[in-house]
Amino acid sequence: MHWEQTVLYDAVTDIGLRRQNNEDAHCAYICRDEAEWWRCGHLFIVADGMGGHAVGELASRIAIETVPHTFLKSSGVDPRKTLQEAVLAANRAINERGTQNVDFHHMGTTCTALALTPHGAIVGHVGDSRLYRVRRDRVDQLTFDHSLEWELERQHGSLEGIFDIHLHRNVITRSLGPEKTVEVDIEGPFPILPGDTFLLCSDGISNQVTDPEIGALLRELPPSQAARMLVNLANIRGGPDNSTAVVVRVGELPANVLPSSAEIPIEEDRSQIGWSWLISFWSIAMCFVIGLAIQWFTDEFAGILMVIASMIATAVLLIAFIHHRSKNRPAPERDPDESQTHHSRPHRTAVCLSTKVLLDLLMKIDAEVQRSAREDGWKVDWEAHDVAVAAAQAAYREKRYAKGVREICRSICSIMDHLPRNGVRMS
Ligand code: CA
Repeated sequence: MHWEQTVLYDAVTDIGLRRQNNEDAHCAYICRDEAEWWRCGHLFIVADGMGGHAVGELASRIAIETVPHTFLKSSGVDPRKTLQEAVLAANRAINERGTQNVDFHHMGTTCTALALTPHGAIVGHVGDSRLYRVRRDRVDQLTFDHSLEWELERQHGSLEGIFDIHLHRNVITRSLGPEKTVEVDIEGPFPILPGDTFLLCSDGISNQVTDPEIGALLRELPPSQAARMLVNLANIRGGPDNSTAVVVRVGELPANVLPSSAEIPIEEDRSQIGWSWLISFWSIAMCFVIGLAIQWFTDEFAGILMVIASMIATAVLLIAFIHHRSKNRPAPERDPDESQTHHSRPHRTAVCLSTKVLLDLLMKIDAEVQRSAREDGWKVDWEAHDVAVAAAQAAYREKRYAKGVREICRSICSIMDHLPRNGVRMS
């Protein structure tokens, strides 16, 4: 990634519909100048506190203050190590605070930090908050959930027959704060391509919205709308937890900046035979035919020699060709079924296209939310809403599903912006 590339980002955090306080926290830091960019890079963090009442809030707030403070003081020598030290510093700060007051014992927080650096994307991660990356038609989870569910699956390969894991899916196995030290997952650097979109989110989002849905919304919507829509979907599906979404999109390279080799997508079509092979095969075939002609019309012995030589050359070339093809065989398609998320430990990947199925689902959600809102007299601009719905329906008929998804998301957000609630909304 280059300093000249723009970074569009937005964040939404919401208390949800069942909680009394919001224990999630987030931060976004864009470098002030090029020197700072070369030294450390842009930084984005989501932290999901735990411990009840003000304790979880305090833990997540310490994390989002300590990590940038330490990271931005770095010398720029090794960003992986710097990010690891920054997350460890946050762990120490939370742990020390926890030991000062009996009410703060065992307070903790998840922490997922993304640094966009000149070396690529680097991730520092503890807990079950997640980092996703959307690139073209795929959404990849770049972090491993430190949860009982994921740890057991890693150990046993499958959770079948162990016990009802869904009762324990929120149990996390690693967090910042409870212990003096913690193991921090450092991932990357991952190459950053123009158009890459990242999502950092708490489990309030990832427990309610599927990977293909997350990917499709990140693909189709600008960061601010994508973040709003993810939080809205979590609330429409019950809002059982605080939810936080930080969406970051990397801009195109300016025309005067050349991409580095890591930024050039590999699009080689390995299914083609290749001109050099074709020319070789044709040349041997020609020698074979000429050999036959010589044998019949001029010198029989010389002709036979030429035919035998052509056959030997064909055999050698065939062996070389088969060897070449086996070395360069393309990886098998990983995801033939769009609706499924496939585990490829330690991460997951899924296809995230705007399909008819997704548009159907979102249109049903809009109809249900609309009915409740009209019955309860929410102060929605129904005229603007109905225009968006009509546009979505027209796009559906024309099979322009991506446009349909954009329009129906606009209409759902126009309703959810007026969601009445007793709690406090933060955004
Ligand atoms: Ca949570």
